[in-house]
Amino acid sequence: MDRVLLVTGGSRGIGAATALTAAAQGWAVAVNYTHNSLAADEVVRDIRNAGGNAITVQADVADEPQVLAMFQKIDAKLGRITGLVNSAGVVDVAARVDEMSLARWQRMFAINAQGTFLCAREAVRRMSTKHGGQGGAIVNISSVASTLGSAGQYVDYAASKAAVDVFTLGLAREVATEGIRVNGVRPGLIDTEIHASGGQPDRAHRLAATIPMQRPGTAQEIANAVVWLLSDASSYATGAMLDVTGGR
Ligand code: NAP
Repeated sequence: MDRVLLVTGGSRGIGAATALTAAAQGWAVAVNYTHNSLAADEVVRDIRNAGGNAITVQADVADEPQVLAMFQKIDAKLGRITGLVNSAGVVDVAARVDEMSLARWQRMFAINAQGTFLCAREAVRRMSTKHGGQGGAIVNISSVASTLGSAGQYVDYAASKAAVDVFTLGLAREVATEGIRVNGVRPGLIDTEIHASGGQPDRAHRLAATIPMQRPGTAQEIANAVVWLLSDASSYATGAMLDVTGGR
């Protein structure tokens, strides 16, 4: 099978580590970003310097026309994808539900849940043997928040990730006979820039004592799990959610 991978949010954090690790294992990688082109360029440069094949693809995953254009660009430049990692995701500042605006809730679901749906739909249209594809693997990045609820912090985020969990299960069962495996990874507290975007840059280290392993995880530790789920080494896993949390 050709190994062509799209990593949404592949320019920073968990997505960037996944793009680099997958490229080292022979995947041609489309590195998606929405705002920060410099970070995406750097990931692509690192992949090419190591002898791999990668391109940047700009798109807001919440926006259907932009997602369609992104897939057309990948079709033309790398060929039909056989791997998809939905890593693009956002948090907002800590707040109680009775303080949240509807606009905040809608943005959270638009990027985290709707973005995952749109990219997975386009992937299935290209991967499914029913549509003449070669099959493939989809990995959705959820969060352990979907099992904890994130009370007083970001229930909106936790709920959007719970939607990703159930979407992963349902889609996995829907396409199980069409050559496509669909799995998810639920990271715990991982040391990336996402916490700064939620106004708490030190969050991963500040809460380290609440983690059984007493430390936050690294983006690389999540990427290792994701790339395993993309690979044939996990050939009988579908509909699975893998918690990578240091025991949390
Ligand atoms: P991060 O370091 O903040 O990186 C986020 C990435 O997503 C960036 O590449 C960003 O691109 C991209 N992105 C954001 N909104 C986008 C949109 N609308 N369309 C396309 N790309 C978009 O985040 P991270 O910590 O690596 O998180 C990656 C995933 O893991 C997320 O789904 C997150 O919810 C999940 N997760 C993270 C943790 C953690 O502790 N870090 C824990 C559990 C789950 P730009 O730079 O261009 O904006």
